[in-house]
Amino acid sequence: MRKFIIIPLFFAFLSCSGPEPGVSLQLASERKETISGLGYRLFFNLPEDPKAPIQASQTIDFRLEKPRQIILDFKDFKEDPAAVALVQVNGKQAKYRFRNEHIVIPRRYFKKGTNTITIDFQAGEQSLNRNEEFLYTLLVPDRARTLFPCFDQPNLKATYTLTLELPAHWEAVSNTPPEQEVLPDAAAQTAHSAAAENAPTRSGRKRITFCPTEPLSTYLFSFVAGQFQLLTETRNGRSISLYHRETDPQKIAQTGIIFDQVFASLEWMEEYTGIPYPFAKYDFIILPGFQYGGMEHTGATLYNDRRMFLGEHPTTGEQLSRMSLIAHETAHMWFGDYVTMAWFDDVWTKEVFANYFAAQMIRPQFPEINHRLNDLRAFYATAYDVDRTAGTNAIKQSLDNLSKAGLIYGNIIYDKAPVVMHMLAEIMGPEAFREGIRTYLHQFAYGNATWEDLISILDRKTPEDLESWSRVWIHSEGMPHIRACMSKDSLVVTQTDPLGRGLLWPQKVTFSLTDGEQTQILTLDLELAEAKAPVTPGMKYILPNTDGLAYGMFLPDSLSLDYILHNLARFEAEETRLSLLMTLYENMLAGNLSGDTLTHALIRYLPAETNNLVRNSALSYIGEATLRYATVKDGLTEAFLLKTAADTAEDKEYRLLAYRTLTGIFTNTLITQQLFEQWDSGKSFDELPFGETEMTSLSYQLMIRLPDKASYIKEKQLERITNLDRRKAYAFIVQAVDPDPAARDAFFQSLLEVENRGTEPWVISALGYLNHFLRQEHALKYICPALAELEEVQRTGDIFFPTSWISACLRGHNSRVAADSVAAFLQEHPGYEPLLKNKILQAADHLSRNLRDSAPLAD
Ligand SMILES: [Zn+2]
Repeated sequence: MRKFIIIPLFFAFLSCSGPEPGVSLQLASERKETISGLGYRLFFNLPEDPKAPIQASQTIDFRLEKPRQIILDFKDFKEDPAAVALVQVNGKQAKYRFRNEHIVIPRRYFKKGTNTITIDFQAGEQSLNRNEEFLYTLLVPDRARTLFPCFDQPNLKATYTLTLELPAHWEAVSNTPPEQEVLPDAAAQTAHSAAAENAPTRSGRKRITFCPTEPLSTYLFSFVAGQFQLLTETRNGRSISLYHRETDPQKIAQTGIIFDQVFASLEWMEEYTGIPYPFAKYDFIILPGFQYGGMEHTGATLYNDRRMFLGEHPTTGEQLSRMSLIAHETAHMWFGDYVTMAWFDDVWTKEVFANYFAAQMIRPQFPEINHRLNDLRAFYATAYDVDRTAGTNAIKQSLDNLSKAGLIYGNIIYDKAPVVMHMLAEIMGPEAFREGIRTYLHQFAYGNATWEDLISILDRKTPEDLESWSRVWIHSEGMPHIRACMSKDSLVVTQTDPLGRGLLWPQKVTFSLTDGEQTQILTLDLELAEAKAPVTPGMKYILPNTDGLAYGMFLPDSLSLDYILHNLARFEAEETRLSLLMTLYENMLAGNLSGDTLTHALIRYLPAETNNLVRNSALSYIGEATLRYATVKDGLTEAFLLKTAADTAEDKEYRLLAYRTLTGIFTNTLITQQLFEQWDSGKSFDELPFGETEMTSLSYQLMIRLPDKASYIKEKQLERITNLDRRKAYAFIVQAVDPDPAARDAFFQSLLEVENRGTEPWVISALGYLNHFLRQEHALKYICPALAELEEVQRTGDIFFPTSWISACLRGHNSRVAADSVAAFLQEHPGYEPLLKNKILQAADHLSRNLRDSAPLAD
């Protein structure tokens, strides 16, 4: 509807001032209607020096329904016409204009049917991630236009034929396998030159041409080049290569398990979808300092080294998270790569399936794990982190320009959406759901689809009304507040919409009722505002969501809340204990119980807990409550954590989890001294794993507590790190814990310059330490400049950077002044981009909760 009204206006607008910056929905829709048969032939000449410019050229072939002006997206030429040396259309030099991040070529050069544009240009740098020994592209969501001129929208899929010239001793990986490799001089020849692979040319360069890709969206086109180690595994006739830069033998030894999980995920997806892996190959690259957990480029999937190579004694949570990351990226090959959203407002449709299926795929790999329990912590708890805040959003958000597409991402699409998808699969039944999924994949193979396309396929396979279900769960933000009480012989359950819209969230909710001895379990269909069920007489306490399947904010009455606080360990099912634990935590945040009460209750309960995933959640709640919400500073928490970490009779993983919690919050002088001695000697409590990762982060924490010893700690830790990439990371981050406040101020100032924010994970760690809770008073002055920089951080950084930037900046703060700074910033910027404002409100949520008597950050 909107599209047809806007297009005529768009033409009028275009004729005088050109297209708006970014890629507007209008421009994308208009191009989609007239352009087809798209292919890019790209050439990049990669120098070894990461500062030298990259010369490039390309040919774009496409069909036009009728002659028309062509608008290419090319953001990163910095208004410097010299960056584009030549533009030819159909063999003739063409006059063109640069306008608002676009190359505009007049209609007169084009004809109906096949057209070819040839461009010589200097490649844009923003998304090239150039390091001394390697570089990689990361073009999601709209960053292809920073690298080369293109039609940067997901529904103009194209084939890519890539040629790279690069140092002869570098590896190169792209979406498809190499077709030929030749010496630069022999580039014109077509014969394969085997010699080039082994013998560097006189100039030490080689040239590789990759096979044409299947139809891909721009954001999936990718290449990686540089110095890497290569491992290849072949199973059942399928070969997969892994590229990495790791040097630690303990970490390299993990490649076997990584390959197992990659192969297992591929096979699971092929079986479920009934579609063999639909692309030429499935290699992957493990990168140090990679900004995401992973990125699903077909045939060249990228992974973060810290998520793939775990420490010597990885926790259960870390092992599950690695497998689910591998499964997630593998599921994307079908959901995202094979069938792609038409526009990034539907990016959640690929993320939801990646996470939903990942949760299924890890089940057979970890048969000993309670996966219902794992889903609760992995999805529900993470979703609540955003859904409880004033900055929450609906699963489906609207998006008028791709320049803001990165802001669509967040916990709601990654974590709430899979919960909701699970409900949908339950409503439909597993067979009908799978059939619907298969129909969807077949119908839109190598193409694009919207959520509406999918829901209409699913709707045909069930008598349920999925449209109205979708309106609440998918298109509306927030979650229900669910209360229950006893009335005569009935349990009465009510749901309310905390945002005052009168919305009702249909779902099943399970309650356990008890008198302290007997238990009655009731599952109610909560379709309306109120539901009732008969109860056994004498029941006193109402325990909500004891199977952990319902989604919402559960508000028990004070008697029941107190019962849960004192009886957590009595519940047999692990998921019941975690679900109730989550309810306690949410009720603390809501002000229904104090941080001290919760902390003390958890310290009493934990010795009886046996499950490490539940322990992990309880310990993180203890950490959060102690840092932010506890008022009694009796040292009880630190003493408990220390005792647990030191107790050799306890489970080793539990001890490690307690130790990690302790190292994040300690303030006690004796404990500080003890931790320093352990770090200094390189030996922790008996048999407690104490690897490089633990020692590195402990060194930062100790430098903050022991400024006199800071330079000793820094030098010694640096000496211990042998891997080149990790030494660089340390040298950068350690600046944030400098004992000299002026040095920290100068470092913070440097982070406000885009050229100093190259490796995002380092910047986020550094910003977190600069705003450490023990230095929050000094760091108050960082809040306003960091907020002021946020729009620029969003423009120049990758998808998760603005969210991580603002949360790293605010996490350590707890004061009224900090809350007021954020409130003042929002007040002074009334027209602030709403998607970005939401990210601020999400990150500042604890500030408004902690100071309940101060003004709310948002109404
Ligand atoms: Zn994903």
